[in-house]
Order: sequence, then C-alpha cells, then structure tokens
Amino acid sequence: MNWQMEVDVVVVGSGAGGMLSALVAAKNHAQVLVVEKDKLWGGTSATSGGGIWIPGSDQAKALGFEDNLDDAFKYVRALSADNVPDENIRAYVENAAPMLRWVTANTGVTYTSQPYPDYHAENPGGSVTGYRTHLPEMFDGTLLGNDLKTQRLPSPAASLFGYLNWTFAETYQLLYRGPGWLTGLAKNMAKYWLDWPLRFTSRKDRRLTLGNALTGGLRVALNEAGVPVWLKTPMQELVTENGRVVGLVVEKDGKPFAIRARKGVVLAAGGFDKNQQMRDANAPLYNKAWASGGVTSNTGDAIRAGQAVGAGTMNMHSAWAAPVFYVPGEDRGRLCTIERALPGCIMVNQKGQRYLNEAASYHVVGQQMARRQREFGDASPSWMVFDHKYRHQFPMGPLLPLVPDWLQSGAVKSILKKGRTIGELAKAMGVDPAALELQVTRFNAGAAKGEDPEFHRGEAAYDKMYGDYRHQPNPCLRPLTEGPFYALPIYPGDIGTNGGLRTNARAQVVDDAGQPIAGLYAVGNNAASAMGESYPGAGVTIGPAMTFGYVAARELTGAN
Ligand code: FAD
Repeated sequence: MNWQMEVDVVVVGSGAGGMLSALVAAKNHAQVLVVEKDKLWGGTSATSGGGIWIPGSDQAKALGFEDNLDDAFKYVRALSADNVPDENIRAYVENAAPMLRWVTANTGVTYTSQPYPDYHAENPGGSVTGYRTHLPEMFDGTLLGNDLKTQRLPSPAASLFGYLNWTFAETYQLLYRGPGWLTGLAKNMAKYWLDWPLRFTSRKDRRLTLGNALTGGLRVALNEAGVPVWLKTPMQELVTENGRVVGLVVEKDGKPFAIRARKGVVLAAGGFDKNQQMRDANAPLYNKAWASGGVTSNTGDAIRAGQAVGAGTMNMHSAWAAPVFYVPGEDRGRLCTIERALPGCIMVNQKGQRYLNEAASYHVVGQQMARRQREFGDASPSWMVFDHKYRHQFPMGPLLPLVPDWLQSGAVKSILKKGRTIGELAKAMGVDPAALELQVTRFNAGAAKGEDPEFHRGEAAYDKMYGDYRHQPNPCLRPLTEGPFYALPIYPGDIGTNGGLRTNARAQVVDDAGQPIAGLYAVGNNAASAMGESYPGAGVTIGPAMTFGYVAARELTGAN
C-alpha cells in the first residue's frame, strides 16, 4: 500500500463516541486524526439531549445517591438481549463512572446528575429516584472559534424555533411558563439576536446546550490537544495486513487517500440510520429511513467496511425505537419525548383506538407502534389527538402553545388536522367518527378520576416524570373536553439503529467466532449495543458510546 500519511490512531466519525476516543488517545500520547464524512461535525450526538446514563458517578454521590454497580448490572442484564455477553454489560457499568471522571478532569464539559427515573425503574435494580442520568451544563461556543459554524445544529425537537438553545432546567420553566419564563426567554432571544458577528453569517446560538454543549466541549478539548478533524473526508475501506487492520482509505478532495494507523482504527461512524437498503435487508420493523432522527450521513459505511474485513455483526434488526413527528421537507423525524405524558392528549391508531400507554418511554412506545403496524397495519401513522386547552398550554411536536395556527408554516399546516367536535376531527383524519367518539368518551370517564384502567398511564415513576405535576390526582391524565380538537400524525421511527459490529468488553471488533480483529475497535451505534433491544434509561446510547470510546482508546494506547 502506498501510504500518504501515517499516524498512531485514526478515528472515523466525529460524534460523541468518536471525539472522546480521539481525545483519550491523544492525552495518552498518541498522534490522532479524526475523519468525518459530512461538512458538519458532531453527528447525531450534537443534535441530541447529550444525556448519559452513568451508574455510581461522583456527581450522584455528591447529591447523596449511593448507587450499587451490581444493581445496575442486574437491571441492564435482565433488559438486554441474551446474545449480549455479560462481560460487555459489566465493562460498561464499571467503566462509565471512571469515564465521566476523566471527562470532568480533562475537558470543559460539566455534567450534573438528575433525579430522572430509569425507564423501567420498578424492575429489580432500577432506580426510581434516578441520579443515573446526567445532563451537560451550558458550554460557551465562543471557545470553538470558527469551528462553531461547522458544528451541527441541535435537533428542531431540542431547540426553540429551530435555532434557540435551551438547557434541561429551562425546558421545564418554558413548559409550565413558570415564574420568570418570559424574562428568561426574552434575555436568551436578545443575546441571540444581538450576537452580530454570528447573526450575519450563521444560525448557530453561541450558548451551547444539551448535545451541542457536549460535542462543543469535546471539540474544544480536541483542538487544545492538537487533534485535527478533517471534514468532508468519508472513510471508504479498511486496509489489512496479515489479518490486522493497519490503516484505511478515505476520500479526500474527491480522491482516495491512504492513511496508515500504527496503533489502530476506531470506528465511530454511527448506525445505518439513513440507509434504506440496509434497513430493508436487516431491520424490517424499523424500515423508514426518513423517519429516523439520525443524521443523513449515517449510512452504515463503517459497518459494511468492518464486515468486509471479517467482522461479525449482531442485532442488526434493532433500533433505538421512538415515536416521531414528520414535517414534510425535513431530513429526519422529530423525536416525541414529553408531549405524550402531558394531560389532555391521547394517541390512537387509524381505527381511532388507543393501543398503548402514551407516557411510557419513547423506546417502549416506538417498539409497540412498530409491532402494531407489522401485525395490524393501522399504526403508521398513528395520531396524537388533543384539545383546545392542551393546544394553548403545551407544545405538540412542531406546534408551540402561544403561536397561533395561522402562523404555522405551510408544511405544518399540511399535517395538522382540526375539528370543532371530535366527530369533525375524525373525518379530517380519515378515521371512523363513531369509533373516535367512543374512544374519547371511554378515556374521559377514567381520566376524570385520574385512572387509565386499560393502559395504566401515569402510574409508573417514568410516566410521572414528564406529566404535569400541578395536575392531580394523575399528572398524565385529563379528559379531552374543549373544542376545537386537533390531531397530528405520529410514526413509529427511531433515533438511530443500534445493531452493528460485534465487539468484546474491550471494544475490539470480533469475528463471528468471537476472535478480535487486531487493530480494529468500534463504539457507539457503529457497534452492536450492550443494551440489546432495550433502553434502560435516558443516556444509554451516548453513555456507552463515550464509555467504550474511553475503553478503546486506553486499550490501544496501552494506558493503565
Ligand atoms: P453520531 O453522533 O451520529 O456520529 C457518527 C458520525 O460519523 C457522524 O458525524 C457521521 O457523519 C460520521 N460518519 C458516518 N459515516 C462516515 C464515514 N464513512 N466516514 C467518516 N465519518 C462518517 N442518546 C442519549 O444517550 N442521550 C440523549 O440525550 C439523546 N437524545 C437524543 C435526542 C435526539 C433528538 C436524537 C435524534 C437522538 C438522541 N439520542 C440520545 C441518540 C443519540 O444521539 C445517538 O444514539 C448517538 O449520538 C450516536 O452516537 P455515535 O457517536 O454512535 O454517532
């Protein structure tokens, strides 16, 4: 091979898993290069909430929450798939807190532990009080210099009007329009619009929050460590010598460019979110590339490159399932997290019937929607139905409470259905009016008493987390009584695929027989997740991406 460049470690992909692997390797004295396919860096990680699920963190201990790693292991083990080895789950649980300690000591990223219940908190080993989910504090984007403009924008589902960033604490203040919400919002908007140097050249908000804060902080640390991130440089193939991965070929300025990696290659190029062919072949239950919240550049390239050098794959049929809204013209689905738990709305299928607990975690709801669609063909789309009071109290997908219907974009108007009565709304949705009326009457009878005998909405700790705590006896239930009534279509989608290359507890890529392929590591959605088909709590995708990134980089640089 005619190498055009030589470094110790090449990391493929600039999401959270990739950037952290690169940083840990660089801090352990390796010469590192990150190659990124897109013209923007940060991947889906930058568009995300940036939450990480870390049992036994120092941050949780400081708040008085003493976790037990055996409990955390037991909890994940029972939820994860049988084919996920115990050692992989154990490696995650044991390395997560040290990884976060390392990030705190070596970067400007600050995480706080949250009273956010696990998604199956009532299971053995689950945490009802939370404190395993951690969220990033705000990060000053000024520190990124020019790299701020090439960082991916946050998801429209995690920003206001598609540009204004908010922290998790501000979400609640805005949601309930609590004391000071208007002043807070006005201040943030003023800061945004008065930021002249950026306002003429970019939509970016310098006040980075959530996934933008995480990836922004990691990128600043990478810059300080002198690690280059090459944009518009897709990896094309891996190069092996005697069964060992010794480098890779990327496309640079439109031409193949061969880079030797003395110590190894870390694949962190996400899942096959936007590859329709790979979805059709592997994940028929999650077969809508357009509905995925993953970024458009995640097309499974590095999974296929791994397979080409003998890597095994695992759980390729699986995804981080989620209900999503789809606004025509957008390049991905918008995750629906909070709305389903708030009082005054229900989700129905095309027959006008409820079929699940709307307030369960997005993963559980996404899986139930996808299974229902496969079995009965009536759940894609399903409909979020809500009344006038909800419309003016809370957001629903692209609709914000104080923004009137006539001010919505043409794309939003094209999917929004409205009727003065439930019967009229049903006709607009193409649903049998009598069936929807019967469903609403049945739901209302229980909701008036704070009960949902069929699906138990509002009973589990996680349901209540996003309910309206001011509304009692059940923060998730209120009858739909006030017209006009509204409906928006909602689809079984995902926030990324989570099957991929088989790895061991050291993040090494292995073949079907479990033998490591020397010099090759995979992390994040590029690898099959240790969670199997489950989603134990908020942050179980980025938490492991970073943890196994930390493990991989230490392994290949020989750090002890
Ligand atoms: P990514 O962050 O997607 O990075 C992969 C990168 O690889 C991309 O930049 C891509 O362009 C690049 N790439 C692809 N192919 C190539 C190639 N051939 N060569 C070079 N580069 C390539 N998860 C959580 O744990 N916590 C949350 O709070 C959370 N919130 C979310 C909110 C939303 C709205 C969404 C959509 C998702 C959320 N998720 C969350 C899911 C999470 O964002 C993803 O699962 C995670 O970011 C995947 O990380 P990754 O490092 O594997 O991939």
